Amino acid sequence: MNLLSSLLGKWQQLPLYVRTLTGMTLGAIAGVLMGKEAVVFEKPCGAMMGLVQMLAAPVAFFAIVHALTGARIEKGKSARLIRLLITNTVVAIIIGMSVANLIAPGERRGLSEKERAQVAEQAEINAAQISTAMASAEKSKPVDKIFQLLEKLPRTVLGPFTSSDQVIGVIILALLLGLALRKISPDIEVTRTTVKVFMDAFITMLHWIVQLVPLIVFGVVAKEVGINGFSSFISLLWLVVAVLLALSLQFIYYMTRVALQSWVTPRQLIRGCREALVMAFSTASSTATMPVTYECLITNVKVSKSSANLGALVGANFNNDGTALYEAMAALFIAQLIGMHLDVTAQLTIVLCAVAASVGAAGIPSAGLITMTLVLTAVGLPLEYSLLLIPIDWFLDRFRTMINVCGDLCVSCVLDGKRKHGELFD
Ligand code: ASP
Repeated sequence: MNLLSSLLGKWQQLPLYVRTLTGMTLGAIAGVLMGKEAVVFEKPCGAMMGLVQMLAAPVAFFAIVHALTGARIEKGKSARLIRLLITNTVVAIIIGMSVANLIAPGERRGLSEKERAQVAEQAEINAAQISTAMASAEKSKPVDKIFQLLEKLPRTVLGPFTSSDQVIGVIILALLLGLALRKISPDIEVTRTTVKVFMDAFITMLHWIVQLVPLIVFGVVAKEVGINGFSSFISLLWLVVAVLLALSLQFIYYMTRVALQSWVTPRQLIRGCREALVMAFSTASSTATMPVTYECLITNVKVSKSSANLGALVGANFNNDGTALYEAMAALFIAQLIGMHLDVTAQLTIVLCAVAASVGAAGIPSAGLITMTLVLTAVGLPLEYSLLLIPIDWFLDRFRTMINVCGDLCVSCVLDGKRKHGELFD
């Protein structure tokens, strides 16, 4: 008994990624040994994923209300900040969707002819099931499609929380509540503290559930290897390549924007903020990195306090472009994997939901994976495929967190403008 608890204690002390890698390796071995028997892991993994999904809506909800009630935005700068945040996120999603369509990682599976025929057959069954629900959308006129999006507006206050495909409803409610709280009690600290207590409680639960990830990875990998062999891992590797490429393009976009619209040069920025970027990579948490990001901007890069405050402290709550890009790509990947055709309405829904879900993604490890369930259900993609992403999520999380932090750096520098303390730097 003592030995068991000391072993468990040692296991818990290992960093999460080491435990996840161990789960992955043991899962692959179990899959090879058990073959089709490994299907026994399917139900428990689905149930654990259900727990993750349960927290998605409330975490997103409180993250947005908290961001809105906590933000102290100087008058006059808010419109600029909002414009900047929206353009950056839209660019991120366009990059993500274009790369995902171009590389089509979900279609790259190293399958034999026979396996390919089986997958195609299964894909047809999946697509037929899903498209019955969306069939009317396929046939309708563009104007009807807009009305279908309008149908996603909430009709009851609790409705969006009871159905997992209601992400837009959750976001709208959160925005309305956040704005209402600002209006009725702009200076009351109590409001902020209360919202923060709820947000922290849900994030604590999230931390607990994230501890299950190594176990889920074990089951998912065992089942996948046991039943389909290693073929779907080939497409996962392609997804890793595609996401890294898209994140690099987003990084180039940020640097170009800084070079064109700020007195700070990209080189000064990266040099001055190295520490924040390394911390983002190693913690996979943009929230934990936030104070370092702020400090680097003020002390090393020397942008003005108000710009660093808006970009790195206020913006950081809303600005998760790396996460938005990843969620849109993951949704397309799963659609490709099951051979489901996504029409304009579905792609537009993905864009909207990815923006919304990234706003609601708390800056903590794996938050993107959790809010992604909202994007998938919104377009009727089967949730069980998101399990497949778990083995690679911890790795991609580090890169998208770095991009989330780069987004905050970019916004701070652009807000600082072409003039440093009144002097023009060209
Ligand atoms: N880990 C990311 C962050 O902290 C969020 C995510 O999972 O995408 O910014």
